[in-house]
Amino acid sequence: MDTPPFNTLGLSPMLLQAVESLGFERPSPIQALAIPVALAGRDVVGLSETGSGKTAAFGLPMLQAIDVSRRETQALIVCPTRELAVQVCEQVHILGSGYGEDLIVAPVYGGASMERQFKLLARGAQIVVGTPGRLLDLWSRKALVLSRIRMVVLDEADRMLDMGFRDDMEELLGAMPAERQTLFFSATMNREVERLIQSFGRDPELVQVKRTAMTVASIDQICYEVRERSKVEVLSRLLDIEPPRLAIVFCNTKRSVDECTEALIARGYAADRLHGDITQMMRERVLKRFREGSVELLVATDVAARGLDIEEVDAVFNYDLPQDPEDYVHRIGRTGRAGRSGRAISFVYGRDIYRLQNIERYTRQKIRRDRIPTQEQVEGRRADQLLEMVRDTLESGEFAHHEDLIDRLLEAGHTATDIANALFSLLYGMHSREGEEIAEDRAPAPPPPRDRERDRDRGDAPPRENRRERGTRFDREERFAPRRGPGGNEGMVTLFVSLGKTGGMRPGDLAGMLYREAQLPEGAVGRISLFPRHTLVDVRADVADDIIERCRDSKLRGKKIRIDYDRGA
Ligand code: AMP
Repeated sequence: MDTPPFNTLGLSPMLLQAVESLGFERPSPIQALAIPVALAGRDVVGLSETGSGKTAAFGLPMLQAIDVSRRETQALIVCPTRELAVQVCEQVHILGSGYGEDLIVAPVYGGASMERQFKLLARGAQIVVGTPGRLLDLWSRKALVLSRIRMVVLDEADRMLDMGFRDDMEELLGAMPAERQTLFFSATMNREVERLIQSFGRDPELVQVKRTAMTVASIDQICYEVRERSKVEVLSRLLDIEPPRLAIVFCNTKRSVDECTEALIARGYAADRLHGDITQMMRERVLKRFREGSVELLVATDVAARGLDIEEVDAVFNYDLPQDPEDYVHRIGRTGRAGRSGRAISFVYGRDIYRLQNIERYTRQKIRRDRIPTQEQVEGRRADQLLEMVRDTLESGEFAHHEDLIDRLLEAGHTATDIANALFSLLYGMHSREGEEIAEDRAPAPPPPRDRERDRDRGDAPPRENRRERGTRFDREERFAPRRGPGGNEGMVTLFVSLGKTGGMRPGDLAGMLYREAQLPEGAVGRISLFPRHTLVDVRADVADDIIERCRDSKLRGKKIRIDYDRGA
């Protein structure tokens, strides 16, 4: 569904700023429908599912309605579970960050210290988010005052009724001023929910996102369970193991587009971006390059990708799962066109699973869960691709002859096999990318051993014994004792750089890159000696480690370079 921009909904500049800084490019359908109605002071019945963006749909009008200069509870959000209460509280807090210290949002739920909750309420929290039982408890102890409530939200009303909270909810609602505004949010509408609305709503407006008919062509739909910080690595592995000719990577926010594009470019992929802040001229340039194939990966938001008509996209990645199932259908509909086969790959984690279930219900299709390919599988595939490339070249007979060079190597005593090995290594180096570990969960409470096993089975983290640990600075130093700079220059060491004259290395570029990336003080770079396939550079010993560390992912002349201590001839 096309939604109007946030700034047409009637939100204050401060809240528009919050939405902008979160990188939300446009309202989700439920936000577009519910926000203006709620801002007009009307009661709302919002039919929407988890993941539809409903927290901001009620949170933004609520933040606009309260008066932060008054230290009293003016708005209440009732949630079925403590987890939801915590999440809602966090999100409301972020959305209201423009109020600074003045805004107090208090989470109150069972199983947590009453003391803290008393204190927060006593400080005059303007917004209270909690579960029905605890809210009632605090009210009966007079810690929570309901007489100044202007707005109340029942989040997941159907679920609260299913969980047997009807009496608690009724008691709470009965204790608030009758002229308050009530927003009912529910995934489903049934007789129980209707009864509640009839008893406590005042001529509410029903907002519901209409589902249009959809068709998904024969697209292979797969999803991977990926933590946020491992998304780039998993995306890279998937791109390497089955390289698409043209692919679109969809993100939910401009910020996510920017971060993803930059990470992909840094890893050597031909990627470019499209989002709301890209000028029309730039947009056309990017699209032209994508159509021509000089950009293979287009990273985009839904809005930016609208109206894009490109036939040959062979894979769509949902780097962020969309808010709305309809967006999912639009996104994946960009692949598998004109009878071609297409792939739609989604990254999910944690609560995304609900959104995924919504999508599956909506499309009436199952999305296959798959294991993340291991680094070993990626390397195996790369070796196969290389072999195929060399074999195809041999079989086609279309290659230049270099007998004079080969003869020189043979005469120097190298065997034909060694020569071929060396050439393969060089080729492999040109086509390989150093993998990273897939992040393990560092949640405060470690999962029970059974869960760790499951994580491992899913391919989230390779078994420890197979994991390729990167050398730490400490063991690198142990292995390669730094060599003193040529001429025994005191205080200088020599670094090896894996690009030389034949790769287009120029001393000025190298020095510039070192100063820039490692933010070196003046005079930290000394003599630079170019060789055909590598370069030696003298640097001040006290900055050598920093250079190695900071230039780990650097590129020169479009090629990824490796910098380490020179181990000597
Ligand atoms: P909710 O349904 O409220 O739990 O929201 C699900 C997720 O969507 C949260 O992570 C929000 O930060 C995100 N979200 C909400 N509204 C938008 C929007 N308009 N654009 C992008 N992301 C959003």
